[in-house]
Amino acid sequence: MGLLRYWYDFLFILFPKTCGACENVLIHQEEYICTTCSYHLPFTDFHQFPTNPSAKKFWGKIEFEQAVSMFYLTKSSLVETLIHNIKYNNRPELAYFLGQKYGRILKKSDFSDGIDLIVPIPLHSKKLKIRGYNQSLHFANGLAESMEIPCDDSLLKRKINTVSQTRKDRLERFENVELIFECNLSSKITAKHILLVDDVLTTGATLCSAASCLMEAMKCKISFATIAKA
Ligand SMILES: [Zn+2]
Repeated sequence: MGLLRYWYDFLFILFPKTCGACENVLIHQEEYICTTCSYHLPFTDFHQFPTNPSAKKFWGKIEFEQAVSMFYLTKSSLVETLIHNIKYNNRPELAYFLGQKYGRILKKSDFSDGIDLIVPIPLHSKKLKIRGYNQSLHFANGLAESMEIPCDDSLLKRKINTVSQTRKDRLERFENVELIFECNLSSKITAKHILLVDDVLTTGATLCSAASCLMEAMKCKISFATIAKA
């Protein structure tokens, strides 16, 4: 068990324990997500189907190995509340818990074969300061622990703080995120196949941008994993 897990268990004792998905108080032996929600969470099982809806988001846009998402994200759903709590209600431990859970599933499948590094999509430093944590890093750390693959969050840096893109069409959004990352090669990390990790997959533009940055700098293969697929 990693140190982070002990820290989260410690916090769990200090603060009221509520389910990350329905926000009801957890009963004894329930962890982070209640039994009812755990039963109803919409797992995608995308790791079993290489031509899954998450992979299709990247078709024709970038060269990649595999793409998976843990859950389907729909409006007014348990997963929507879960993601909201992870991003805006100071519950990064939920992302870590989900990462551990998903990592165990992925490790049992062929998905993890050959992956030698896990890299989370970074937040811009301004956003990180406001939120206090990067939810994707916590998900990545959970994955890393159960997949037994190292995680590195120093490799990618976000140089532009992207503004709201809701009013722009899909194509413009792709151009807009083209150059938002840079690679920190001073970290002297080598990897042949990187698993790039984010919270939600929507257009895939952010992940594509980060992936091309890494592939150019590291000459590596890329796979993608997100907590949810919109
Ligand atoms: Zn619940």
